[in-house]
Amino acid sequence: MNEQITRREALDKLVDIITPEDSTKNQENIQGETFKNESSSNLEDPTTKHPKPPFNKQFQPFPGLAAKMDPVPDHGEESYVGSGRLTGRKALVTGGDSGIGRAAVIAFAREGADVAINYLPDEESDAREVIDLIKKAGRKAVAIPGDIRDEAFCQRLVSEAVSQLGGLDILVNNAGHQKSNQSILDISTEDFDRTMKTNLYAPFWIIKAALPHLKPGSSIIGLSSVQAYDPSADLYDYAQTKAATTSYVKSLAKQLGPKGIRVNGVAPGPVWTALEVSGGQTQEKLVEFGGDTPLGRPGQPAELASIFVQFADNTGSFATGQIYGSAGGSGQP
Ligand code: NAD
Ligand code: MG
Repeated sequence: MNEQITRREALDKLVDIITPEDSTKNQENIQGETFKNESSSNLEDPTTKHPKPPFNKQFQPFPGLAAKMDPVPDHGEESYVGSGRLTGRKALVTGGDSGIGRAAVIAFAREGADVAINYLPDEESDAREVIDLIKKAGRKAVAIPGDIRDEAFCQRLVSEAVSQLGGLDILVNNAGHQKSNQSILDISTEDFDRTMKTNLYAPFWIIKAALPHLKPGSSIIGLSSVQAYDPSADLYDYAQTKAATTSYVKSLAKQLGPKGIRVNGVAPGPVWTALEVSGGQTQEKLVEFGGDTPLGRPGQPAELASIFVQFADNTGSFATGQIYGSAGGSGQP
């Protein structure tokens, strides 16, 4: 009993120490009334937290650079704080130079993982920023540029990542290609082939190459989308690949569960990334991007980072075959 009281007192003291001073400052409630906030100091209103449309029209040739976007996306560079959740882990993230992949990479590195990233050679300047961020987090950074539409390259990518990291236990198949086409008649066989090769063949080749290296406890993460269950008229080919991603995640989770390898997927809604300004949306849709979600804005890559950490972390050990969404309330299944 005495010991419990002592613990309680110690806990109260700790709360005093970690509770910031402004936790009781006045705030406005939903009716516009002023009230004293006595419970929490770090409430953030998701409707005003990040930029809203209208956005300026802007086009970049594929694959686009995050650094040239207006506004520049928030990948968590200034905000993500790690707490050792992935200490000593070894991750490979395709498309880790920009967007959602970059946000996952920053989080992984700050949680203690060494990280290899893949990207296209045209994205070297974005990739250099990410390599610097991984190093600043005190972790090993490996850059492996190359085109994942090539099976031989995918095999080299995995073997290089494994040899430079000294193993592999987190694989994120994040790279993707999206091109808006008003009509199926506008989609060339070459376009269709690029979307399928990037979004479906590459994960197939990369997972096959990685599997012999993955030990029990390892995690594979795929990138699905709200497009998997609420496909847009102008994303005929892309939407198919996202539905297929949801299927491969669920199939592989059943196949690899008994081996202790978890397979999960992330399904974002509209997120402000280079993919959207390099042909993924029409200029008209880009101006209003994310405005039709209940939060009235697109997501920023940083807002998805914690999902990747949760899937990779040991604390997520019962999650496999799951698709976790983050879509501002849009396109629910
Ligand atoms: P992004 O452009 O920042 O990232 C995509 C990356 O894919 C590029 O950086 C590029 O490195 C890589 N890539 C494309 N083709 C490649 C190829 N042939 N070889 C090697 N790498 C290649 O955009 P993002 O939005 O962060 O995209 C990441 C993933 O998120 C994609 O799978 C995308 O489909 C998915 N997603 C995005 C949104 C969104 O609104 N932005 C919504 C749902 C799903
Ligand atoms: Mg990029």
